[in-house]
Amino acid sequence: SRYVTIKHHITGSPKQSDFEVKTANLFLSLDTGSNDVLVKNLYVSIDPYQLNRMKEYSASQMASEYALAVLPGQAINAYGVGRVIASANPSYIKDDMIVGLIGWEDYTLVRGKDVIMIRKLDSTEFPLSYHVSALGLSGLTAYGGFFNVCKPKKGETLFVSAASGSVGNIVGQYAKLFGCYVVGCAGTKQKVDLLTDKLGFDAAFNYKKTTDLNSTLKRYFPDGIDMYFDNVGGEMLEAAVANMSMFGRVAVCGVISEYTDAKRRAGPNMTEVVYKRITIQGFLASDYMNDFGDFLSTTSDHIQNGRLHVIEDISHNLESIPLAFEGLFAGDNIGKKIVQIADN
Ligand code: NDP
Repeated sequence: SRYVTIKHHITGSPKQSDFEVKTANLFLSLDTGSNDVLVKNLYVSIDPYQLNRMKEYSASQMASEYALAVLPGQAINAYGVGRVIASANPSYIKDDMIVGLIGWEDYTLVRGKDVIMIRKLDSTEFPLSYHVSALGLSGLTAYGGFFNVCKPKKGETLFVSAASGSVGNIVGQYAKLFGCYVVGCAGTKQKVDLLTDKLGFDAAFNYKKTTDLNSTLKRYFPDGIDMYFDNVGGEMLEAAVANMSMFGRVAVCGVISEYTDAKRRAGPNMTEVVYKRITIQGFLASDYMNDFGDFLSTTSDHIQNGRLHVIEDISHNLESIPLAFEGLFAGDNIGKKIVQIADN
């Protein structure tokens, strides 16, 4: 069984050459009573946060609950969809389809104690990859962050960064369905066109062609931004805070521009925060696991009725994972980046 690992800890932007593919023995016979499940991995998620696990950390940081550090040579777990090929767990049988924590590898032995991190996929209503994108953690992140952290009201204004990305495009689509005025930014014309022409955003702009973010946002939001869904941090966060309206809410989902540069830290004007009573709140998708059922039924319904488009960017073969990962930080992906490791 092959798996992708880092050759060494990563500083700055990741490069393909920071990774290697290794092989490990595959144990096909599972111990009875172990509750272990052996999964053949089909689709795996490629996520920006993985970079934070690949950096060199102190021992205390390594214990971080959210993202356990990855050591060079170790397999890297990741969300994905797979097929059970052997099971010592009464809840799973051969050929069950599952979604959950598997890895950047051909096969994952899900230990009995970790089986809570996967669940069975009973329905084949949607393409399997959707359970990694809009119906998976990206969708839940968008749903939890938009509804619980942004706390939208009909008619309010929303700005979302990395808007054509996996989480961003879904946030914008939920906000349009909810009745908000939505503006997104992204890094290419093709992405900007997708937002306005296909996904129904009211406006979008290419932040790489923008010299003054502050005045650009002022133009799109003359009466202020009620909600900013932040995927990027850095100066975009500063410009958004400068343009927030009274009692505005900033949902800090991620700060990708700061992941690759340890010296880069957003310094929003805190006096604005005080006088405008702005709320800036970080959150994790895992905070909203209890909403998963609601999220899944609402989002499935939107997709089925053509109200929500699923935007995915799928590459093939395990060997393409390093390039796919590198591409996230260069803005190569449009929508959810997924690697298909095997057909079925
Ligand atoms: P995306 O699909 O949005 O891919 C990343 C995108 O970020 C790129 O395509 C690129 O688009 C943009 N980007 C890359 N580098 C920079 C930069 N230096 N400055 C500005 N934009 C940049 O990824 P996800 O949707 O998976 O993740 C989006 C954010 O949400 C990340 O910060 C991630 O860590 C966070 N996240 C948080 C979760 C949580 O639980 N809180 C869960 C999942 C994701 P462009 O062309 O627009 O530059």
